Parts: sequence; C-alpha cells; structure tokens
Amino acid sequence: MPHGPRLSLDLRSMARDRIHDGRLPVLFSMVIAARYGMAADCSVCAKPIEQHRVRYAEEDLRDGGSLLFHLACHAAWQLECLQHMATAGARLTMATRA
Ligand SMILES: [Zn+2]
Repeated sequence: MPHGPRLSLDLRSMARDRIHDGRLPVLFSMVIAARYGMAADCSVCAKPIEQHRVRYAEEDLRDGGSLLFHLACHAAWQLECLQHMATAGARLTMATRA
C-alpha cells in the first residue's frame, strides 16, 4: 500500500530546494518503477522508506544513479519540476526508461 508522507507544501518546498541545489534533476516521468523491498531513504524528505512500503524509483539520467521516493514525495518533486520548467524555462528531460 502506498503509505507515507502526504503531499504538502512542506514536501513541495523540500523538492524545490533539492532541485535548486542540484540534488534532484528537473525531469518529467513517463514511467516509474514501484516496488517493495530494500529499505532506503527518500530523495525528497530524506526519511526512510520502510521495507513494507512501496518505494518509487527513477533513474537519475545525469549519472545513472537511483532516485527513490515515497509516493507523495514523488508527486511533490514532479509538481516542482513542472513549476520550475514554467518559471525558469528549464529544459525538460523526458524519462522513458521502462
Ligand atoms: Zn519522502
């Protein structure tokens, strides 16, 4: 079940900060992998994604690394990517990885 943080202005603010400082790319997801499994820290809120929760994974196309999210954190990041593109004219990266 996709439990975890709820989408909020705080999560959007964290996602925005991580885009601005380069920890997260500006990327629009076409495909996202969702799995149970290995515990990891979320790329937005930095809190653990417990093994019994669904984690949402994206490839960081800048370096091939993994970006892992709670559902709400992924939504916050995507909303901030759209906002960033709308306000900064940033180049859109389309992720089509299966
Ligand atoms: Zn999170």
